[in-house]
Amino acid sequence: MNDDTKDRTARRRVLAGGIAVLAGGMLVRAAAAQQKLEQAAVQYQDHPKDGQKCSICVNFIAPNACKLVNGTISPEGYCIAFAPKDS
Ligand code: SF4
Repeated sequence: MNDDTKDRTARRRVLAGGIAVLAGGMLVRAAAAQQKLEQAAVQYQDHPKDGQKCSICVNFIAPNACKLVNGTISPEGYCIAFAPKDS
């Protein structure tokens, strides 16, 4: 292998490494920008179920939002992602 061939091989390796780093960065950004779930996807309803309701769920953000679910969330609502707060 002559010097010119070695240089081209080294450049290809550097380029491939750069592309891998760029792709990894894009995946991290995509994960960070992950959207909340749609209400229908978690069967959100605007009334409690068996005493379970958003106001006592760990994901509820007062006065009317949720860490996991998109849109306006009633404190009296419920969805299948319900997880009770420790009390
Ligand atoms: S029950 Fe569902 S919508 Fe309500 S706060 Fe919990 S995760 Fe969010």
